[in-house]
Amino acid sequence: MQSPVTKIDPVIAARLSKQKYQLVGEHGGVKTCHWTKQSLIADRSCYKGTFYGIESHGCMQMAPNVDTCNLGCTYCWREPHSDTLNKIDDDPYELYLESVRGHRRLLTGFGGNPKADPEKFAEAQNPKHVAISLNGEPTLYSRLGEFLDICHQHGTSTFLVTNGSLPKVIENLDTLPTQLYVSVDAPNKELFDRLCKPKFDQGAFHKLEQTLELLPSLDTRTVCRHTLIKHESLGHHKDYARLDNIANPDFIEAKGYVNVGNSRNNLSIENMPTHQEILDFSNTLAPLVGREVLSDRRESRGALIGREMIPVTLPQKVRDLPKDLGIAKPQRFLLPQA
Ligand code: SF4
Repeated sequence: MQSPVTKIDPVIAARLSKQKYQLVGEHGGVKTCHWTKQSLIADRSCYKGTFYGIESHGCMQMAPNVDTCNLGCTYCWREPHSDTLNKIDDDPYELYLESVRGHRRLLTGFGGNPKADPEKFAEAQNPKHVAISLNGEPTLYSRLGEFLDICHQHGTSTFLVTNGSLPKVIENLDTLPTQLYVSVDAPNKELFDRLCKPKFDQGAFHKLEQTLELLPSLDTRTVCRHTLIKHESLGHHKDYARLDNIANPDFIEAKGYVNVGNSRNNLSIENMPTHQEILDFSNTLAPLVGREVLSDRRESRGALIGREMIPVTLPQKVRDLPKDLGIAKPQRFLLPQA
Protein backbone atom coordinates (compact mmCIF):
# COMPACT_ATOMS: atom_id res chain seq x y z
CA MET A 1 0.00 0.00 0.00
CA GLN A 2 1.31 3.43 -0.94
CA SER A 3 1.12 5.91 1.96
CA PRO A 4 0.07 9.43 0.92
CA VAL A 5 2.64 12.01 1.91
CA THR A 6 1.45 14.49 4.49
CA LYS A 7 0.60 17.96 3.24
CA ILE A 8 0.74 19.43 6.73
CA ASP A 9 2.86 22.57 6.99
CA PRO A 10 6.44 21.38 7.76
CA VAL A 11 6.66 23.39 11.00
CA ILE A 12 3.37 21.97 12.29
CA ALA A 13 4.34 18.45 11.09
CA ALA A 14 7.63 18.66 12.99
CA ARG A 15 5.88 19.80 16.18
CA LEU A 16 3.28 17.02 15.92
CA SER A 17 5.98 14.46 15.19
CA LYS A 18 7.87 15.55 18.31
CA GLN A 19 4.65 15.01 20.28
CA LYS A 20 4.56 11.42 18.97
CA TYR A 21 1.85 11.82 16.40
CA GLN A 22 2.04 9.39 13.48
CA LEU A 23 0.86 11.43 10.49
CA VAL A 24 -1.51 9.65 8.12
CA GLY A 25 -3.14 10.69 4.86
CA GLU A 26 -2.65 14.26 3.70
CA HIS A 27 -3.73 15.99 6.92
CA GLY A 28 -4.57 13.19 9.37
CA GLY A 29 -2.84 11.79 12.41
CA VAL A 30 -2.91 9.04 15.03
CA LYS A 31 -1.63 9.31 18.60
CA THR A 32 -1.69 6.74 21.37
CA CYS A 33 -3.92 7.91 24.18
CA HIS A 34 -2.58 8.00 27.74
CA TRP A 35 -5.36 5.63 28.76
CA THR A 36 -4.56 3.10 26.03
CA LYS A 37 -1.08 2.88 27.51
CA GLN A 38 -2.49 2.69 31.05
CA SER A 39 -4.81 -0.13 30.02
CA LEU A 40 -1.89 -2.09 28.56
CA ILE A 41 0.47 -1.71 31.52
CA ALA A 42 -1.73 -1.06 34.55
CA ASP A 43 -5.22 -2.40 33.64
CA ARG A 44 -6.76 1.06 34.05
CA SER A 45 -9.29 2.50 31.62
CA CYS A 46 -10.52 6.00 30.86
CA TYR A 47 -13.90 7.51 31.65
CA LYS A 48 -15.27 5.99 28.42
CA GLY A 49 -14.78 2.60 30.07
CA THR A 50 -16.68 3.68 33.18
CA PHE A 51 -19.45 5.53 31.32
CA TYR A 52 -19.90 3.46 28.15
CA GLY A 53 -17.94 0.18 28.47
CA ILE A 54 -15.21 1.11 25.97
CA GLU A 55 -11.98 -0.85 26.58
CA SER A 56 -9.11 1.62 26.41
CA HIS A 57 -6.56 -0.87 25.05
CA GLY A 58 -8.83 -1.40 22.02
CA CYS A 59 -9.15 2.32 21.31
CA MET A 60 -7.41 4.12 18.44
CA GLN A 61 -7.31 7.90 18.75
CA MET A 62 -7.08 9.68 15.42
CA ALA A 63 -8.36 12.58 13.35
CA PRO A 64 -8.58 13.06 9.58
CA ASN A 65 -7.25 16.62 9.87
CA VAL A 66 -5.00 17.25 12.82
CA ASP A 67 -3.83 20.61 11.50
CA THR A 68 -7.13 22.25 10.67
CA CYS A 69 -9.81 23.88 12.79
CA ASN A 70 -12.22 26.74 12.23
CA LEU A 71 -12.14 27.74 15.92
CA GLY A 72 -9.20 28.87 18.02
CA CYS A 73 -10.39 27.86 21.49
CA THR A 74 -8.42 29.36 24.36
CA TYR A 75 -8.67 26.05 26.28
CA CYS A 76 -7.51 23.87 23.34
CA TRP A 77 -4.44 22.03 24.56
CA ARG A 78 -3.52 20.78 21.11
CA GLU A 79 -0.88 22.21 18.84
CA PRO A 80 -2.09 25.44 17.12
CA HIS A 81 -3.61 24.78 13.73
CA SER A 82 -2.94 26.07 10.25
CA ASP A 83 -4.19 29.62 9.56
CA THR A 84 -5.98 28.39 6.46
CA LEU A 85 -8.72 25.83 5.89
CA ASN A 86 -7.41 23.00 3.74
CA LYS A 87 -9.50 20.77 1.52
CA ILE A 88 -9.34 17.30 3.03
CA ASP A 89 -10.61 14.50 0.85
CA ASP A 90 -8.39 11.48 1.59
CA ASP A 91 -9.64 8.10 0.41
CA PRO A 92 -11.52 6.78 3.48
CA TYR A 93 -10.45 3.13 3.17
CA GLU A 94 -6.80 4.04 2.69
CA LEU A 95 -7.05 6.46 5.61
CA TYR A 96 -8.48 3.74 7.85
CA LEU A 97 -5.80 1.21 6.91
CA GLU A 98 -3.03 3.77 7.25
CA SER A 99 -4.37 4.80 10.66
CA VAL A 100 -4.33 1.20 11.92
CA ARG A 101 -0.81 0.73 10.58
CA GLY A 102 0.26 3.95 12.29
CA HIS A 103 -1.47 2.91 15.53
CA ARG A 104 0.44 -0.38 15.43
CA ARG A 105 3.70 1.53 14.95
CA LEU A 106 3.03 3.68 18.00
CA LEU A 107 2.29 0.59 20.09
CA THR A 108 5.46 -1.32 19.19
CA GLY A 109 7.31 -0.40 22.40
CA PHE A 110 4.73 -2.24 24.46
CA GLY A 111 5.51 -5.54 22.71
CA GLY A 112 8.74 -5.87 24.70
CA ASN A 113 7.49 -4.15 27.84
CA PRO A 114 7.35 -6.72 30.67
CA LYS A 115 4.58 -4.71 32.35
CA ALA A 116 2.29 -4.88 29.28
CA ASP A 117 -0.40 -7.56 29.17
CA PRO A 118 0.49 -9.69 26.07
CA GLU A 119 -3.16 -10.61 25.40
CA LYS A 120 -4.23 -6.97 25.47
CA PHE A 121 -1.24 -6.00 23.33
CA ALA A 122 -2.30 -8.57 20.70
CA GLU A 123 -5.90 -7.29 20.79
CA ALA A 124 -4.75 -3.68 20.50
CA GLN A 125 -3.28 -4.39 17.04
CA ASN A 126 -6.80 -4.43 15.62
CA PRO A 127 -8.74 -1.55 17.22
CA LYS A 128 -12.30 -2.10 18.40
CA HIS A 129 -13.01 1.57 18.83
CA VAL A 130 -12.00 4.73 16.97
CA ALA A 131 -12.05 8.02 18.87
CA ILE A 132 -12.16 10.71 16.18
CA SER A 133 -11.23 13.41 18.62
CA LEU A 134 -7.49 13.80 18.46
CA ASN A 135 -7.14 17.30 17.07
CA GLY A 136 -8.81 19.64 14.55
CA GLU A 137 -12.46 19.77 13.46
CA PRO A 138 -13.37 16.46 11.75
CA THR A 139 -16.45 17.75 9.93
CA LEU A 140 -14.03 19.60 7.63
CA TYR A 141 -13.16 16.19 6.10
CA SER A 142 -15.28 15.87 2.97
CA ARG A 143 -15.56 12.05 3.14
CA LEU A 144 -16.26 11.70 6.84
CA GLY A 145 -19.47 9.64 6.42
CA GLU A 146 -17.67 7.12 4.20
CA PHE A 147 -14.85 6.90 6.73
CA LEU A 148 -17.30 6.16 9.55
CA ASP A 149 -18.89 3.47 7.39
CA ILE A 150 -15.49 1.84 6.79
CA CYS A 151 -14.82 1.80 10.56
CA HIS A 152 -18.20 0.18 11.22
CA GLN A 153 -17.66 -2.41 8.47
CA HIS A 154 -14.60 -3.55 10.43
CA GLY A 155 -16.71 -3.99 13.58
CA THR A 156 -15.22 -0.85 15.10
CA SER A 157 -17.38 1.58 17.08
CA THR A 158 -16.80 5.30 16.53
CA PHE A 159 -17.00 8.33 18.79
CA LEU A 160 -16.87 11.59 16.87
CA VAL A 161 -16.33 14.93 18.60
CA THR A 162 -17.39 18.03 16.66
CA ASN A 163 -17.49 21.67 17.61
CA GLY A 164 -20.91 21.84 15.95
CA SER A 165 -20.10 24.80 13.73
CA LEU A 166 -21.00 23.02 10.48
CA PRO A 167 -24.59 21.80 10.89
CA LYS A 168 -25.02 21.10 7.17
CA VAL A 169 -22.24 18.50 7.31
CA ILE A 170 -23.86 16.75 10.27
CA GLU A 171 -27.26 16.90 8.58
CA ASN A 172 -25.89 15.32 5.39
CA LEU A 173 -23.78 12.55 6.95
CA ASP A 174 -24.86 9.28 5.31
CA THR A 175 -23.35 7.28 8.14
CA LEU A 176 -23.46 8.64 11.65
CA PRO A 177 -20.90 7.77 14.33
CA THR A 178 -21.80 5.27 17.05
CA GLN A 179 -21.81 8.24 19.41
CA LEU A 180 -21.83 11.86 18.33
CA TYR A 181 -20.37 14.42 20.71
CA VAL A 182 -21.08 18.09 20.27
CA SER A 183 -18.82 20.38 22.27
CA VAL A 184 -20.98 22.96 24.02
CA ASP A 185 -18.12 24.71 25.73
CA ALA A 186 -19.71 28.10 26.29
CA PRO A 187 -23.18 28.90 27.61
CA ASN A 188 -23.93 31.90 25.38
CA LYS A 189 -22.69 33.82 22.34
CA GLU A 190 -20.70 36.36 24.30
CA LEU A 191 -18.64 33.72 26.10
CA PHE A 192 -18.47 31.53 23.00
CA ASP A 193 -16.90 34.32 20.95
CA ARG A 194 -14.44 35.07 23.75
CA LEU A 195 -13.47 31.48 24.60
CA CYS A 196 -13.91 29.62 21.30
CA LYS A 197 -12.71 32.43 19.02
CA PRO A 198 -14.30 31.61 15.64
CA LYS A 199 -11.70 32.30 12.97
CA PHE A 200 -13.85 32.64 9.89
CA ASP A 201 -17.54 32.84 10.86
CA GLN A 202 -18.79 35.26 13.51
CA GLY A 203 -22.13 33.42 13.37
CA ALA A 204 -20.51 30.18 14.61
CA PHE A 205 -22.48 30.17 17.89
CA HIS A 206 -25.74 30.31 15.93
CA LYS A 207 -24.47 27.39 13.79
CA LEU A 208 -23.80 25.46 17.00
CA GLU A 209 -27.41 26.11 18.03
CA GLN A 210 -28.55 24.78 14.63
CA THR A 211 -26.51 21.61 15.21
CA LEU A 212 -28.14 21.19 18.62
CA GLU A 213 -31.56 21.55 16.97
CA LEU A 214 -30.64 18.66 14.64
CA LEU A 215 -29.63 16.24 17.39
CA PRO A 216 -33.10 14.93 18.34
CA SER A 217 -33.65 13.80 14.73
CA LEU A 218 -30.38 11.86 14.44
CA ASP A 219 -30.56 8.10 14.69
CA THR A 220 -27.54 7.64 16.91
CA ARG A 221 -26.35 8.16 20.48
CA THR A 222 -25.73 11.84 21.18
CA VAL A 223 -23.76 13.72 23.82
CA CYS A 224 -23.43 17.39 24.74
CA ARG A 225 -20.04 17.91 26.27
CA HIS A 226 -19.30 20.90 28.48
CA THR A 227 -15.60 21.58 29.10
CA LEU A 228 -15.81 23.99 32.02
CA ILE A 229 -13.31 26.72 32.81
CA LYS A 230 -13.31 28.14 36.32
CA HIS A 231 -13.84 31.93 36.42
CA GLU A 232 -15.04 31.74 32.80
CA SER A 233 -17.59 29.16 31.67
CA LEU A 234 -18.19 27.24 34.91
CA GLY A 235 -21.67 28.10 36.25
CA HIS A 236 -24.30 29.59 33.91
CA HIS A 237 -26.50 26.55 34.57
CA LYS A 238 -29.64 28.06 33.05
CA ASP A 239 -27.88 28.92 29.80
CA TYR A 240 -26.37 25.44 29.54
CA ALA A 241 -29.76 23.91 30.35
CA ARG A 242 -31.35 25.93 27.52
CA LEU A 243 -28.82 24.53 25.04
CA ASP A 244 -29.03 20.97 26.39
CA ASN A 245 -32.82 21.05 26.26
CA ILE A 246 -32.67 22.04 22.58
CA ALA A 247 -30.42 19.04 21.86
CA ASN A 248 -32.18 16.57 24.18
CA PRO A 249 -29.09 14.32 24.03
CA ASP A 250 -28.75 10.83 25.44
CA PHE A 251 -25.97 12.06 27.68
CA ILE A 252 -24.36 15.23 28.95
CA GLU A 253 -20.75 15.16 30.00
CA ALA A 254 -19.37 17.85 32.28
CA LYS A 255 -15.58 18.00 32.27
CA GLY A 256 -13.10 20.26 33.97
CA TYR A 257 -10.63 22.25 31.91
CA VAL A 258 -7.06 20.98 32.35
CA ASN A 259 -4.16 23.43 32.16
CA VAL A 260 -1.88 21.54 29.78
CA GLY A 261 -0.37 21.93 26.32
CA ASN A 262 -0.97 25.01 24.25
CA SER A 263 -3.83 26.24 26.48
CA ARG A 264 -1.21 27.31 29.04
CA ASN A 265 -0.57 30.31 26.79
CA ASN A 266 -4.13 31.51 27.44
CA LEU A 267 -5.25 30.17 30.82
CA SER A 268 -3.72 29.29 34.16
CA ILE A 269 -3.96 26.60 36.78
CA GLU A 270 -6.50 28.86 38.55
CA ASN A 271 -8.90 28.09 35.69
CA MET A 272 -9.01 24.37 36.55
CA PRO A 273 -12.15 23.39 38.46
CA THR A 274 -11.84 20.72 41.15
CA HIS A 275 -13.67 17.47 40.74
CA GLN A 276 -16.07 18.57 43.47
CA GLU A 277 -16.85 21.75 41.51
CA ILE A 278 -17.67 19.63 38.45
CA LEU A 279 -19.94 17.47 40.59
CA ASP A 280 -21.63 20.56 42.06
CA PHE A 281 -22.16 21.96 38.55
CA SER A 282 -23.60 18.62 37.38
CA ASN A 283 -25.91 18.25 40.36
CA THR A 284 -27.31 21.74 39.71
CA LEU A 285 -27.66 21.22 35.95
CA ALA A 286 -29.22 17.72 36.08
CA PRO A 287 -32.69 18.72 37.42
CA LEU A 288 -32.86 21.63 34.95
CA VAL A 289 -32.62 19.10 32.10
CA GLY A 290 -34.77 16.36 33.68
CA ARG A 291 -31.85 14.00 34.22
CA GLU A 292 -29.58 12.82 36.99
CA VAL A 293 -25.88 12.45 37.61
CA LEU A 294 -25.22 8.82 36.66
CA SER A 295 -21.49 8.47 37.19
CA ASP A 296 -18.26 10.37 37.59
CA ARG A 297 -14.53 9.91 37.25
CA ARG A 298 -12.25 11.82 39.59
CA GLU A 299 -9.08 11.27 37.46
CA SER A 300 -10.80 12.84 34.45
CA ARG A 301 -12.65 15.51 36.49
CA GLY A 302 -15.75 14.41 34.65
CA ALA A 303 -19.36 13.53 35.35
CA LEU A 304 -22.04 11.82 33.28
CA ILE A 305 -25.58 13.21 33.30
CA GLY A 306 -28.42 11.25 31.73
CA ARG A 307 -31.43 9.03 32.32
CA GLU A 308 -29.71 5.63 32.30
CA MET A 309 -26.29 4.20 31.58
CA ILE A 310 -26.27 2.31 28.29
CA PRO A 311 -23.07 0.53 27.21
CA VAL A 312 -22.01 0.81 23.58
CA THR A 313 -22.53 -2.22 21.35
CA LEU A 314 -20.04 -2.88 18.57
CA PRO A 315 -21.22 -2.66 14.95
CA GLN A 316 -21.53 -5.98 13.11
CA LYS A 317 -18.22 -6.82 11.44
CA VAL A 318 -18.54 -7.55 7.73
CA ARG A 319 -14.96 -7.00 6.64
CA ASP A 320 -11.53 -8.02 7.95
CA LEU A 321 -8.36 -5.99 7.88
CA PRO A 322 -6.01 -7.25 5.15
CA LYS A 323 -3.84 -10.08 6.53
CA ASP A 324 -0.72 -8.41 5.12
CA LEU A 325 -1.61 -4.93 6.46
CA GLY A 326 1.62 -4.77 8.43
CA ILE A 327 2.86 -1.78 10.34
CA ALA A 328 3.81 1.77 9.37
CA LYS A 329 7.44 2.79 9.17
CA PRO A 330 8.74 5.05 11.97
CA GLN A 331 8.33 8.74 11.18
CA ARG A 332 10.44 11.74 12.03
CA PHE A 333 9.57 15.18 10.72
CA LEU A 334 12.20 17.74 11.66
CA LEU A 335 11.82 21.50 11.87
CA PRO A 336 12.91 23.02 8.57
CA GLN A 337 16.32 24.70 8.73
CA ALA A 338 16.09 28.50 8.84
S1 SF4 B 1 -12.79 23.15 18.29
FE1 SF4 B 1 -11.57 21.55 19.31
S2 SF4 B 1 -9.72 21.32 18.02
FE2 SF4 B 1 -10.73 23.26 17.40
S3 SF4 B 1 -9.65 24.82 18.60
FE3 SF4 B 1 -11.51 24.22 19.75
S4 SF4 B 1 -10.83 22.59 21.17
FE4 SF4 B 1 -9.21 22.82 19.60
